[in-house]
Amino acid sequence: MIKSVLLDLDGTVYRGTEPVPGASKFIKRLREKGLDCLFVTNRANRSAETVCRILREMDIECEVENLLTSAQATASHLPPGKFYYIGEEPLRDALIERGHTFSEDEPDYVIVGYDPFLTYQKLEKATLFLRAGAKFIGTNPDKVLYTEYGIIPGNGATLAALTVASEVEPTIIGKPERVIIDIALQQLKILPQEALLVGDSIETDVRAGLNSGVPTALILTGVSSRQDLEKSEVQPDWVVENFEELEELIFSA
Ligand SMILES: [Mg+2]
Repeated sequence: MIKSVLLDLDGTVYRGTEPVPGASKFIKRLREKGLDCLFVTNRANRSAETVCRILREMDIECEVENLLTSAQATASHLPPGKFYYIGEEPLRDALIERGHTFSEDEPDYVIVGYDPFLTYQKLEKATLFLRAGAKFIGTNPDKVLYTEYGIIPGNGATLAALTVASEVEPTIIGKPERVIIDIALQQLKILPQEALLVGDSIETDVRAGLNSGVPTALILTGVSSRQDLEKSEVQPDWVVENFEELEELIFSA
């Protein structure tokens, strides 16, 4: 019996600034039926407040507790410590909010999230701290980002540069790793089999389900297609074209 749906955002609920058709209606229906909906996103560069505002503008009700970003998951996963970071303000704020302190003096952690203002200087500092023994943490491993103007480097590309330079492998918090999903389940106080993870990416969402024991539904509204699925060794429990089919799947079961 499904108690909660863990819903991916980019490519699932919205694409850029456009809502995916049926998302708002689907989420309303879930709540009417008493199911929790937790938005779980690998994005570390938007605060929970910002994401909630974007969702509300799309007629999707959202409170900050309905949301788990990889920045928040990173901050709650790590014991309080001193951190150096690459990323944007929402990542730093999420860390400080949960008792971590920013420091460029022997930090315990180097935490790396997507940073459109990445500089050589930041890579240099991060490498020096990693070589001095700081723990290497990646908010999410997404290699690329899909934009209206093409495919651009994602956080995985930055992590790769630092891995080469420091000879240290990062611990990844976001999907497809299970850390963020485990935190989601703890927050909802449910077992893996009581959740359904819905997302548009085989490599990110379906794999995250596999790694954490949560059943998955791949929705074909974003990056992965049926052709990708044919080639993939990882398979979701269900495949749906859109939210209409997802609704049918959940409520007819
Ligand atoms: Mg997605």
